[in-house]
Amino acid sequence: MSGIHNIVVLTGAGISAESGVPTFRTKNGVNYWDIGDGHDDYRVEDVCTPEALAADPDLVHRFYDARRAALATVEPNAAHRALARLDAAWPGALLIVTQNVDDLHERAGASRLLHMHGELNSALCAACGARVPWAGDMPPGTRCDACGGAAMRPDIVFFGEMPYAMDRIERTLSDADLFVSIGTSGAVYPAAGFVQTARYHGATTLEMNLEPSAGSAYFHETRLGPASGLVPAWVETLLS
Ligand code: NAD
Repeated sequence: MSGIHNIVVLTGAGISAESGVPTFRTKNGVNYWDIGDGHDDYRVEDVCTPEALAADPDLVHRFYDARRAALATVEPNAAHRALARLDAAWPGALLIVTQNVDDLHERAGASRLLHMHGELNSALCAACGARVPWAGDMPPGTRCDACGGAAMRPDIVFFGEMPYAMDRIERTLSDADLFVSIGTSGAVYPAAGFVQTARYHGATTLEMNLEPSAGSAYFHETRLGPASGLVPAWVETLLS
């Protein structure tokens, strides 16, 4: 495609939905997760805030232990594979920024990838900031190998915390020729504002989602449908 060198792709929970990873569900304006572990739905504010971790570490750790374990039962889908193909073949600059904490992009083979909201397969020491790869359960009070503090927590950016690599993301957005958003509701900031930044700096903007996102008006083009169909078709056109 002429004139396009720098591409930024933002992905959200919707790209992993067809792999069987649950997106948010909303009841009466309240966001929930049903992760299929037999527990009643988990309210976002009960498991995804610093306050929740302080108030009920057992619940928060159990929730992320279950989500981490569930990764073994899911596989990348055609949309993850298409982005990995783009990553391997695109001669220009590319950055895939994912809000997802699953590992489906990397398992599909993508490497120009940044997890802005953290990763299930990583642990963060709340005392010294060390980040280490993690597999299996993480009981509350697990000690950090680096500092010895009993402060290991899931390496997840909770609501109210600063996402990772915002400086790099902002710089990359300001250089983008094309910004593409896939499977995100456009409700969670700062990611929801990336389209405006990219467009302000002159990028063409495209979204692919099941339904128009909250920021749909900021996109030059919206394609509606499942990511497993839309993303491979878009990548095919881009690379041909
Ligand atoms: P969201 O759940 O708010 O929105 C998901 C969006 O994807 C919706 O607009 C929905 O219409 C769309 N969608 C659903 N199925 C789709 C499909 N098959 N193809 C295309 N689009 C589809 O998710 P969000 O915008 O990413 O924001 C929620 C927050 O929760 C983020 O921080 C996100 O990372 C996190 N989260 C992550 C995961 C994960 O790691 N897989 C899962 C749930 C939520």
